[in-house]
Amino acid sequence: MKVQAYAAVEAKSKLTPYTYELGAIGPEQVDIKVAYCGICHSDLSMINNEWGMTQYPLVPGHEIVGEVVAAGDAVKNVKIGDKVGLGWLSASCMSCQECMDGSHHLCANNEATIVGRHGGFADYVRGHWSWAIPLPEAIDMSKAGPLLCGGITVFNPIILANVKPTDTVGVIGIGGLGHMALKFLKHWGCEVIAFSSNPTKKAQILEMGANQVINSKSPEELEQIAGKLNFILNTTNVSLDWNSYLSTLAPKGKFHTVGAVLEPMAIPAFSLIGGEKSVGGSPVGSPTLTKTMLDFCVRHEIYPTVEEFPFEKVNEAIEHLEKGKARFRVVLKK
Ligand code: NAP
Ligand code: ZN
Repeated sequence: MKVQAYAAVEAKSKLTPYTYELGAIGPEQVDIKVAYCGICHSDLSMINNEWGMTQYPLVPGHEIVGEVVAAGDAVKNVKIGDKVGLGWLSASCMSCQECMDGSHHLCANNEATIVGRHGGFADYVRGHWSWAIPLPEAIDMSKAGPLLCGGITVFNPIILANVKPTDTVGVIGIGGLGHMALKFLKHWGCEVIAFSSNPTKKAQILEMGANQVINSKSPEELEQIAGKLNFILNTTNVSLDWNSYLSTLAPKGKFHTVGAVLEPMAIPAFSLIGGEKSVGGSPVGSPTLTKTMLDFCVRHEIYPTVEEFPFEKVNEAIEHLEKGKARFRVVLKK
């Protein structure tokens, strides 16, 4: 089958139409006809080879929802005609300790949808059946794509950190991931503080459920909430004053980053020792937790706030995100 896609041919290049041959389908693989695909900041980082692992031509796109149109002989759980989502990961070995434990996202041999293979800025995309997540019947397809990467990436830490409804929590950076985190934590029952560097977002951030908005770059403002937060989720990829953030944690508080900060993060030991504080990070989440999150989203009508672009305007859409104009997640529509 020939796939019509959009690809970057070198770092920082505009995407151009690109056709490739998908080849024979493997016994455990499914082909998905793409209906919508979100644009994650990780797509930008991959287009620009910021992580040094991009292979060109690169077809980005890993926040995919669509329909299964072909399935290998040994496919389980999904069938032709099913509506599914595919995120950052598209295969894992299914036999290592992590996979057997249900933590497929921690499999050392997993396959990322846009690393060394082609993603969802295309009419079709392929993946292992285990990562083709069945979508709940009632889900709004036009807004569901971003849940498959951004959504699960911020949902997983809430479970990992055992965040309670009585907790006071903070989210740093109210972009694609950050705004979904806000919505989840609000529905969790938490008091939510948003840290944003962009004052023009304030009204919308409050509307989405934040109790307070603080300038993410102001140590003075951070000082005013010293010792208050049980949990902080960082979704930015830039260097901020991490020590000031650690001071906003209550004793036993946890600081968790999902933002791919490129520079080493300076964490003074004494900022952790006195209050038994901890620092961690995580990649996306397991297929099972993704399914659980999707059910939670449908039950509470939690969706990202999206801006829709047709696939043909992919370069405009990317530029919109790159310039910090996205409110709050850009989605491409077939
Ligand atoms: P995004 O939509 O661009 O949002 C990032 C936000 O960070 C911005 O909206 C902005 O929020 C803040 N920010 C950006 N530049 C800043 C600066 N110079 N100073 C202060 N704040 C700044 O990106 P995204 O798609 O949410 O992705 C966020 C990060 O998560 C990226 O690094 C991405 O690669 C990573 N990621 C990780 C995983 C994982 O598995 N761990 C999964 C998906 C994405 P304000 O305007 O509110 O300040
Ligand atoms: Zn992503």
